[in-house]
Amino acid sequence: MLSKLPKEAVINLSPGPVTAYPRVLRALSRPAYYDYDPYFLQFYENVALKAAKALRTKEPALILQCEPAPAIEAAAASMIGRNDVVLNLASGIYGKGFGYWAQRYNKEMVEIEVAYDDAITPDAVAEAFRKRPDIKVVHLVHHETPSGTINPAHAIGKIARDHDALLLVDAVSSFGGMDVHPEDCAADIFITSPGKCLGGVPGVTLIAVSDRAWRHMESNPTAPRASMLSLLDWKDAWRKEEAFPFTPSTADINGLDATLDLYMEEGPKTVWARHALTAKACRSGIQAMGLTLWPKTDAIASPTATVVRVPDAVNEAELVTAARAELGVCISGGRGELKGQLIRIGHMGPMAEPVYGVVAVTAIGHALRKLGRKVDVGAGVEAALTAIARGSV
Ligand SMILES: *Cc1c(COP(=O)(O)O)cnc(C)c1O
Repeated sequence: MLSKLPKEAVINLSPGPVTAYPRVLRALSRPAYYDYDPYFLQFYENVALKAAKALRTKEPALILQCEPAPAIEAAAASMIGRNDVVLNLASGIYGKGFGYWAQRYNKEMVEIEVAYDDAITPDAVAEAFRKRPDIKVVHLVHHETPSGTINPAHAIGKIARDHDALLLVDAVSSFGGMDVHPEDCAADIFITSPGKCLGGVPGVTLIAVSDRAWRHMESNPTAPRASMLSLLDWKDAWRKEEAFPFTPSTADINGLDATLDLYMEEGPKTVWARHALTAKACRSGIQAMGLTLWPKTDAIASPTATVVRVPDAVNEAELVTAARAELGVCISGGRGELKGQLIRIGHMGPMAEPVYGVVAVTAIGHALRKLGRKVDVGAGVEAALTAIARGSV
Protein backbone atom coordinates (compact mmCIF):
# COMPACT_ATOMS: atom_id res chain seq x y z
CA MET A 1 0.00 0.00 0.00
CA LEU A 2 1.39 3.39 -1.01
CA SER A 3 1.21 6.11 1.62
CA LYS A 4 -0.30 9.45 0.76
CA LEU A 5 2.31 12.01 -0.28
CA PRO A 6 2.60 15.20 1.73
CA LYS A 7 1.78 18.41 -0.09
CA GLU A 8 4.77 19.59 -2.14
CA ALA A 9 6.88 22.37 -0.65
CA VAL A 10 5.99 25.87 -1.86
CA ILE A 11 9.59 27.06 -1.68
CA ASN A 12 12.71 24.86 -1.43
CA LEU A 13 15.43 26.65 0.53
CA SER A 14 17.54 23.57 1.22
CA PRO A 15 21.28 23.62 0.55
CA GLY A 16 20.81 21.05 -2.21
CA PRO A 17 19.35 19.46 -4.16
CA VAL A 18 18.04 22.89 -5.07
CA THR A 19 15.12 24.11 -7.12
CA ALA A 20 16.30 23.99 -10.73
CA TYR A 21 16.00 26.93 -13.11
CA PRO A 22 12.95 26.58 -15.41
CA ARG A 23 15.28 26.58 -18.42
CA VAL A 24 17.09 23.55 -17.00
CA LEU A 25 13.78 21.73 -16.63
CA ARG A 26 12.89 22.56 -20.22
CA ALA A 27 16.29 21.30 -21.36
CA LEU A 28 15.69 18.02 -19.52
CA SER A 29 12.63 17.50 -21.70
CA ARG A 30 14.61 17.66 -24.94
CA PRO A 31 14.68 14.40 -26.93
CA ALA A 32 16.64 11.49 -25.46
CA TYR A 33 19.47 10.89 -27.93
CA TYR A 34 21.37 7.85 -29.13
CA ASP A 35 24.79 8.42 -27.57
CA TYR A 36 26.75 7.61 -30.78
CA ASP A 37 24.59 9.75 -33.03
CA PRO A 38 26.77 12.49 -34.57
CA TYR A 39 24.49 15.13 -33.05
CA PHE A 40 25.01 13.85 -29.51
CA LEU A 41 28.76 13.25 -29.93
CA GLN A 42 29.27 16.86 -31.00
CA PHE A 43 26.85 18.14 -28.37
CA TYR A 44 28.69 16.25 -25.58
CA GLU A 45 32.05 17.63 -26.75
CA ASN A 46 30.58 21.14 -26.75
CA VAL A 47 29.20 20.73 -23.22
CA ALA A 48 32.61 19.53 -21.94
CA LEU A 49 34.20 22.60 -23.58
CA LYS A 50 31.56 24.92 -22.09
CA ALA A 51 32.26 23.42 -18.67
CA ALA A 52 35.97 24.13 -19.15
CA LYS A 53 35.15 27.74 -20.00
CA ALA A 54 33.03 28.11 -16.86
CA LEU A 55 35.77 26.45 -14.78
CA ARG A 56 38.46 28.55 -16.54
CA THR A 57 40.60 25.53 -17.34
CA LYS A 58 42.50 24.73 -20.51
CA GLU A 59 41.45 21.08 -20.65
CA PRO A 60 37.79 20.09 -20.97
CA ALA A 61 36.10 18.94 -17.78
CA LEU A 62 35.22 15.32 -17.14
CA ILE A 63 31.52 14.69 -16.80
CA LEU A 64 31.05 11.72 -14.49
CA GLN A 65 27.74 9.92 -14.62
CA CYS A 66 27.04 10.03 -10.91
CA GLU A 67 26.46 12.29 -7.94
CA PRO A 68 29.51 14.01 -6.43
CA ALA A 69 29.84 11.61 -3.47
CA PRO A 70 30.70 8.59 -5.66
CA ALA A 71 32.73 10.90 -7.93
CA ILE A 72 34.84 11.97 -4.94
CA GLU A 73 35.31 8.31 -4.06
CA ALA A 74 36.43 7.73 -7.67
CA ALA A 75 38.92 10.59 -7.34
CA ALA A 76 40.33 9.02 -4.16
CA ALA A 77 40.61 5.60 -5.82
CA SER A 78 42.24 7.00 -8.95
CA MET A 79 44.62 9.51 -7.35
CA ILE A 80 45.84 7.82 -4.21
CA GLY A 81 48.40 5.06 -4.62
CA ARG A 82 49.96 2.69 -2.11
CA ASN A 83 53.04 4.92 -1.79
CA ASP A 84 51.11 8.13 -1.17
CA VAL A 85 50.92 9.95 2.12
CA VAL A 86 47.64 11.87 2.26
CA LEU A 87 46.94 15.03 4.22
CA ASN A 88 43.20 15.12 4.91
CA LEU A 89 41.75 18.42 6.06
CA ALA A 90 38.64 17.81 8.12
CA SER A 91 36.61 20.82 9.18
CA GLY A 92 33.28 19.10 8.72
CA ILE A 93 31.38 15.99 7.76
CA TYR A 94 32.48 15.84 4.11
CA GLY A 95 36.12 16.45 4.98
CA LYS A 96 36.07 13.76 7.65
CA GLY A 97 34.29 11.36 5.29
CA PHE A 98 36.98 11.62 2.63
CA GLY A 99 39.49 10.25 5.11
CA TYR A 100 37.68 6.89 5.17
CA TRP A 101 38.04 6.60 1.38
CA ALA A 102 41.67 7.77 1.47
CA GLN A 103 42.52 5.08 4.04
CA ARG A 104 41.52 2.37 1.59
CA TYR A 105 44.19 3.38 -0.91
CA ASN A 106 46.95 5.34 0.81
CA LYS A 107 50.21 4.44 2.49
CA GLU A 108 49.41 6.66 5.44
CA MET A 109 47.02 9.46 6.29
CA VAL A 110 47.77 12.58 8.27
CA GLU A 111 44.68 14.48 9.34
CA ILE A 112 44.07 17.98 10.57
CA GLU A 113 40.71 18.14 12.26
CA VAL A 114 39.14 21.29 13.66
CA ALA A 115 35.76 21.89 15.33
CA TYR A 116 32.96 21.82 12.77
CA ASP A 117 32.14 25.51 13.26
CA ASP A 118 35.69 26.46 12.34
CA ALA A 119 37.98 26.43 9.28
CA ILE A 120 41.42 24.99 8.48
CA THR A 121 44.20 27.60 8.65
CA PRO A 122 47.01 27.82 6.08
CA ASP A 123 49.46 27.86 9.03
CA ALA A 124 48.28 24.45 10.17
CA VAL A 125 48.79 23.10 6.64
CA ALA A 126 52.28 24.62 6.42
CA GLU A 127 53.10 23.06 9.80
CA ALA A 128 51.89 19.64 8.58
CA PHE A 129 54.28 19.88 5.61
CA ARG A 130 57.15 20.86 7.94
CA LYS A 131 56.56 17.70 9.95
CA ARG A 132 55.82 15.49 6.97
CA PRO A 133 57.53 16.71 3.78
CA ASP A 134 56.53 13.38 2.19
CA ILE A 135 52.83 14.38 1.96
CA LYS A 136 51.83 13.73 -1.66
CA VAL A 137 48.06 14.29 -1.82
CA VAL A 138 46.05 16.94 0.05
CA HIS A 139 42.27 16.86 0.28
CA LEU A 140 40.18 19.93 1.07
CA VAL A 141 36.46 20.65 1.13
CA HIS A 142 36.03 24.27 0.07
CA HIS A 143 32.53 24.75 1.46
CA GLU A 144 31.49 22.34 4.20
CA THR A 145 27.79 22.40 3.37
CA PRO A 146 26.68 20.66 6.61
CA SER A 147 28.13 23.56 8.63
CA GLY A 148 28.17 26.50 6.18
CA THR A 149 31.89 27.17 6.57
CA ILE A 150 34.47 28.08 3.92
CA ASN A 151 38.08 26.92 3.99
CA PRO A 152 40.84 29.14 2.51
CA ALA A 153 41.36 27.12 -0.67
CA HIS A 154 43.60 29.67 -2.40
CA ALA A 155 46.14 29.91 0.42
CA ILE A 156 46.12 26.17 1.06
CA GLY A 157 46.48 25.46 -2.67
CA LYS A 158 49.59 27.62 -2.82
CA ILE A 159 51.20 25.75 0.08
CA ALA A 160 50.39 22.37 -1.47
CA ARG A 161 51.82 23.42 -4.84
CA ASP A 162 54.97 24.85 -3.20
CA HIS A 163 55.53 21.40 -1.69
CA ASP A 164 54.84 19.64 -4.96
CA ALA A 165 51.82 17.87 -3.49
CA LEU A 166 48.61 17.22 -5.44
CA LEU A 167 45.49 19.01 -4.22
CA LEU A 168 41.99 17.62 -4.46
CA VAL A 169 39.25 20.21 -3.84
CA ASP A 170 35.59 19.45 -3.22
CA ALA A 171 33.92 22.63 -4.50
CA VAL A 172 30.55 20.97 -4.95
CA SER A 173 28.54 23.62 -3.11
CA SER A 174 30.71 26.69 -3.77
CA PHE A 175 31.63 26.73 -7.48
CA GLY A 176 29.08 28.79 -9.38
CA GLY A 177 28.06 30.68 -6.23
CA MET A 178 31.34 32.41 -5.47
CA ASP A 179 34.75 33.18 -6.93
CA VAL A 180 36.58 29.83 -6.92
CA HIS A 181 38.16 28.03 -9.88
CA PRO A 182 40.55 25.09 -10.16
CA GLU A 183 43.60 26.99 -11.37
CA ASP A 184 43.19 29.93 -8.95
CA CYS A 185 43.49 27.57 -6.01
CA ALA A 186 46.08 25.30 -7.67
CA ALA A 187 43.69 22.34 -7.52
CA ASP A 188 44.81 19.24 -9.40
CA ILE A 189 41.39 17.69 -9.07
CA PHE A 190 38.45 20.07 -8.64
CA ILE A 191 35.01 18.58 -8.19
CA THR A 192 31.69 20.34 -8.59
CA SER A 193 28.11 19.61 -9.47
CA PRO A 194 25.25 21.15 -11.43
CA GLY A 195 22.86 20.29 -8.57
CA LYS A 196 23.96 23.03 -6.18
CA CYS A 197 24.92 26.63 -7.08
CA LEU A 198 24.50 26.11 -10.83
CA GLY A 199 20.78 25.48 -10.28
CA GLY A 200 20.58 22.15 -12.10
CA VAL A 201 19.46 18.74 -10.94
CA PRO A 202 21.53 16.09 -9.18
CA GLY A 203 22.98 13.29 -11.28
CA VAL A 204 26.27 14.24 -12.88
CA THR A 205 29.57 15.62 -11.58
CA LEU A 206 32.09 17.95 -13.22
CA ILE A 207 35.76 17.28 -12.53
CA ALA A 208 38.65 19.43 -13.69
CA VAL A 209 41.94 17.52 -13.76
CA SER A 210 45.43 19.05 -14.08
CA ASP A 211 48.20 17.54 -16.21
CA ARG A 212 50.09 16.68 -13.03
CA ALA A 213 47.10 14.77 -11.72
CA TRP A 214 46.74 12.81 -14.99
CA ARG A 215 50.42 11.86 -14.82
CA HIS A 216 50.03 10.75 -11.21
CA MET A 217 46.95 8.64 -12.00
CA GLU A 218 48.57 7.13 -15.08
CA SER A 219 51.55 6.02 -13.02
CA ASN A 220 49.37 4.70 -10.17
CA PRO A 221 49.22 0.91 -10.64
CA THR A 222 46.15 0.64 -8.40
CA ALA A 223 44.13 3.34 -10.23
CA PRO A 224 40.94 1.53 -11.32
CA ARG A 225 40.23 0.86 -15.01
CA ALA A 226 36.98 -0.40 -16.53
CA SER A 227 35.28 0.64 -13.30
CA MET A 228 32.73 3.11 -11.95
CA LEU A 229 35.61 4.45 -9.84
CA SER A 230 37.88 5.21 -12.80
CA LEU A 231 38.65 8.79 -13.83
CA LEU A 232 41.18 7.53 -16.41
CA ASP A 233 38.41 5.77 -18.36
CA TRP A 234 36.78 9.15 -19.00
CA LYS A 235 39.94 11.11 -19.88
CA ASP A 236 39.26 11.37 -23.62
CA ALA A 237 35.56 10.57 -23.65
CA TRP A 238 34.71 14.21 -24.37
CA ARG A 239 36.25 13.96 -27.86
CA LYS A 240 33.59 13.14 -30.42
CA GLU A 241 35.79 10.50 -32.06
CA GLU A 242 36.34 8.61 -28.76
CA ALA A 243 34.10 5.98 -27.19
CA PHE A 244 32.23 6.45 -23.92
CA PRO A 245 33.18 3.95 -21.17
CA PHE A 246 29.43 3.40 -20.87
CA THR A 247 26.29 5.21 -22.00
CA PRO A 248 26.03 8.67 -20.51
CA SER A 249 22.66 9.90 -19.27
CA THR A 250 21.80 11.97 -22.30
CA ALA A 251 18.99 13.78 -20.46
CA ASP A 252 21.42 14.91 -17.76
CA ILE A 253 23.78 16.29 -20.40
CA ASN A 254 20.89 18.37 -21.73
CA GLY A 255 20.28 19.72 -18.23
CA LEU A 256 23.98 20.40 -17.62
CA ASP A 257 24.21 22.31 -20.90
CA ALA A 258 21.43 24.66 -19.77
CA THR A 259 23.03 25.31 -16.36
CA LEU A 260 26.31 26.29 -18.04
CA ASP A 261 24.58 28.57 -20.55
CA LEU A 262 22.60 30.30 -17.79
CA TYR A 263 25.73 30.84 -15.68
CA MET A 264 27.81 32.25 -18.52
CA GLU A 265 25.02 34.38 -20.00
CA GLU A 266 24.20 36.05 -16.69
CA GLY A 267 27.90 36.49 -15.99
CA PRO A 268 29.74 34.81 -13.10
CA LYS A 269 30.28 38.08 -11.20
CA THR A 270 26.59 38.92 -11.30
CA VAL A 271 25.71 35.41 -10.16
CA TRP A 272 28.18 35.52 -7.24
CA ALA A 273 26.90 38.96 -6.20
CA ARG A 274 23.32 37.77 -5.83
CA HIS A 275 24.45 34.73 -3.84
CA ALA A 276 26.39 37.04 -1.48
CA LEU A 277 23.57 39.55 -1.12
CA THR A 278 21.00 36.83 -0.41
CA ALA A 279 23.25 35.43 2.33
CA LYS A 280 23.77 38.91 3.74
CA ALA A 281 20.03 39.64 3.83
CA CYS A 282 19.28 36.30 5.45
CA ARG A 283 21.98 36.64 8.11
CA SER A 284 21.06 40.21 8.98
CA GLY A 285 17.49 39.08 9.62
CA ILE A 286 18.50 35.97 11.54
CA GLN A 287 20.73 37.99 13.85
CA ALA A 288 18.12 40.73 14.30
CA MET A 289 15.78 38.03 15.66
CA GLY A 290 18.39 37.23 18.31
CA LEU A 291 19.60 33.98 16.74
CA THR A 292 23.24 32.96 16.44
CA LEU A 293 25.02 31.88 13.26
CA TRP A 294 26.80 28.53 13.37
CA PRO A 295 30.19 29.51 11.85
CA LYS A 296 32.62 30.79 14.46
CA THR A 297 33.32 34.03 12.54
CA ASP A 298 31.59 35.95 9.74
CA ALA A 299 34.77 35.65 7.67
CA ILE A 300 34.35 31.89 7.26
CA ALA A 301 30.56 31.92 6.65
CA SER A 302 29.68 30.74 3.16
CA PRO A 303 27.78 33.01 0.75
CA THR A 304 25.96 29.93 -0.52
CA ALA A 305 24.36 28.68 2.72
CA THR A 306 23.38 30.17 6.06
CA VAL A 307 23.67 27.86 9.04
CA VAL A 308 22.00 28.83 12.31
CA ARG A 309 22.41 27.41 15.80
CA VAL A 310 19.16 25.98 17.15
CA PRO A 311 18.30 28.02 20.26
CA ASP A 312 18.39 26.26 23.64
CA ALA A 313 15.31 24.23 24.43
CA VAL A 314 14.14 24.25 20.81
CA ASN A 315 13.91 20.95 18.93
CA GLU A 316 15.55 21.12 15.50
CA ALA A 317 13.19 18.66 13.84
CA GLU A 318 10.14 20.48 15.23
CA LEU A 319 11.50 23.78 13.93
CA VAL A 320 12.08 22.43 10.42
CA THR A 321 8.68 20.73 10.43
CA ALA A 322 6.88 23.88 11.59
CA ALA A 323 8.36 25.95 8.73
CA ARG A 324 7.41 23.26 6.26
CA ALA A 325 3.93 22.52 7.59
CA GLU A 326 2.84 26.09 8.31
CA LEU A 327 4.30 27.93 5.32
CA GLY A 328 5.45 25.26 2.88
CA VAL A 329 9.06 26.44 3.20
CA CYS A 330 11.64 23.68 3.08
CA ILE A 331 14.81 24.27 5.13
CA SER A 332 17.27 21.62 6.32
CA GLY A 333 18.37 20.36 9.69
CA GLY A 334 21.76 19.05 10.77
CA ARG A 335 23.42 15.96 9.33
CA GLY A 336 25.29 13.18 11.09
CA GLU A 337 26.82 14.34 14.34
CA LEU A 338 25.46 17.86 13.78
CA LYS A 339 21.89 16.60 13.88
CA GLY A 340 19.76 18.46 16.39
CA GLN A 341 22.14 21.41 16.66
CA LEU A 342 21.52 23.56 13.61
CA ILE A 343 19.27 24.52 10.73
CA ARG A 344 20.46 25.31 7.22
CA ILE A 345 19.20 27.59 4.47
CA GLY A 346 20.69 27.28 0.99
CA HIS A 347 21.36 30.27 -1.24
CA MET A 348 22.03 28.44 -4.46
CA GLY A 349 21.06 28.83 -8.10
CA PRO A 350 17.60 30.32 -8.59
CA MET A 351 17.11 30.55 -4.80
CA ALA A 352 20.08 32.91 -4.53
CA GLU A 353 17.80 35.91 -4.91
CA PRO A 354 17.70 38.37 -2.00
CA VAL A 355 13.93 38.04 -1.55
CA TYR A 356 14.47 34.42 -0.48
CA GLY A 357 16.64 35.70 2.37
CA VAL A 358 13.54 37.53 3.59
CA VAL A 359 11.44 34.40 3.08
CA ALA A 360 13.86 32.33 5.18
CA VAL A 361 13.82 34.85 8.03
CA THR A 362 10.02 34.97 7.97
CA ALA A 363 9.68 31.18 7.90
CA ILE A 364 12.13 30.60 10.75
CA GLY A 365 10.64 33.41 12.83
CA HIS A 366 7.14 32.10 12.29
CA ALA A 367 8.17 28.53 13.10
CA LEU A 368 9.86 29.61 16.35
CA ARG A 369 6.68 31.42 17.38
CA LYS A 370 4.70 28.33 16.61
CA LEU A 371 6.97 26.48 19.06
CA GLY A 372 6.14 29.05 21.72
CA ARG A 373 9.19 31.31 21.49
CA LYS A 374 8.91 35.09 21.55
CA VAL A 375 10.55 36.34 18.37
CA ASP A 376 10.57 39.80 16.81
CA VAL A 377 9.93 38.66 13.23
CA GLY A 378 9.28 42.26 12.16
CA ALA A 379 12.79 43.28 13.24
CA GLY A 380 14.19 40.32 11.30
CA VAL A 381 12.37 41.25 8.11
CA GLU A 382 13.31 44.91 8.53
CA ALA A 383 17.00 44.02 8.91
CA ALA A 384 16.92 41.73 5.88
CA LEU A 385 15.27 44.43 3.75
CA THR A 386 17.75 47.03 4.99
CA ALA A 387 20.62 44.78 3.90
CA ILE A 388 19.03 44.45 0.47
CA ALA A 389 18.52 48.22 0.21
CA ARG A 390 22.21 48.77 1.02
CA GLY A 391 22.94 46.56 -1.94
CA SER A 392 26.12 44.80 -2.93
CA VAL A 393 28.13 43.16 -0.20
C1 LIG B 1 26.29 18.06 -1.94
C2 LIG B 1 27.72 17.86 -1.64
C3 LIG B 1 28.38 16.71 -2.06
C4 LIG B 1 27.68 15.63 -2.80
O1 LIG B 1 27.02 14.80 -1.96
P1 LIG B 1 25.90 13.84 -2.54
O2 LIG B 1 25.56 13.02 -1.35
O3 LIG B 1 26.46 13.13 -3.69
O4 LIG B 1 24.80 14.78 -2.97
C5 LIG B 1 29.73 16.60 -1.81
N1 LIG B 1 30.41 17.57 -1.16
C6 LIG B 1 29.81 18.68 -0.73
C7 LIG B 1 30.61 19.71 -0.01
C8 LIG B 1 28.44 18.86 -0.96
O5 LIG B 1 27.82 19.98 -0.54
